[in-house]
Amino acid sequence: KFITFEGIDGAGKSSHVEWLAETLRQRGLSVLVTREPGGTALGEKLRELLLSEAMHLETETLLMFAARREHLAQRIEPALARGEWVICDRFSDATWAYQGGGRGLDKAKFLALERWVHEHLQPDLTLLFDLPLEVARERIVLANRVLDKFEQERADFHERVRQAYLERAHANPSRMRVIGADDSLENIRKQLEVIASSICS
Ligand code: C5P
Repeated sequence: KFITFEGIDGAGKSSHVEWLAETLRQRGLSVLVTREPGGTALGEKLRELLLSEAMHLETETLLMFAARREHLAQRIEPALARGEWVICDRFSDATWAYQGGGRGLDKAKFLALERWVHEHLQPDLTLLFDLPLEVARERIVLANRVLDKFEQERADFHERVRQAYLERAHANPSRMRVIGADDSLENIRKQLEVIASSICS
């Protein structure tokens, strides 16, 4: 099975990725945890560029999908073929939300690239960690770390990203589940536990 985690910056999805992976491993499953952009040696180099360099929107989108192609070929598809579970921290929904919603990329171009790069593969399940922008911002400020290119964008950019994610979840209800990321850690884990049980059975 292929599971992806999505959400605006500050939603806390990375720690939930680790927790779900551990929960599934305790149930005897073999789980590959990976992330985008990145996941391969080349993908991590592209990530460095993507998170630091200013570039044309379409260049940014093409590099995201180039990194994704490499990631699918080298890691995701082979793991799925071996019968492993794959949990990926961000995937194409992030491109839909950030480059599409945030920066205004033409939807037809997104769809063409998605078809090109993974026409026959979609995540079995996508967990969208949603929360109000102000709460996400507060968490980022509290973490007191260096902000990447996207995190430095203005609030209206992040609000458009959030709305694009929600629209996409609304349009794909059988694949995507929205989780209230401003809920307590305990409640979020309870929800993940229920999800883990349902996908394992
Ligand atoms: O998930 P993580 O915070 O590590 O992602 C790195 C950054 O890349 C995020 O700030 C996210 O906004 C951005 N990103 C993006 N488009 C994608 C994937 C990630 O803008 N398709």
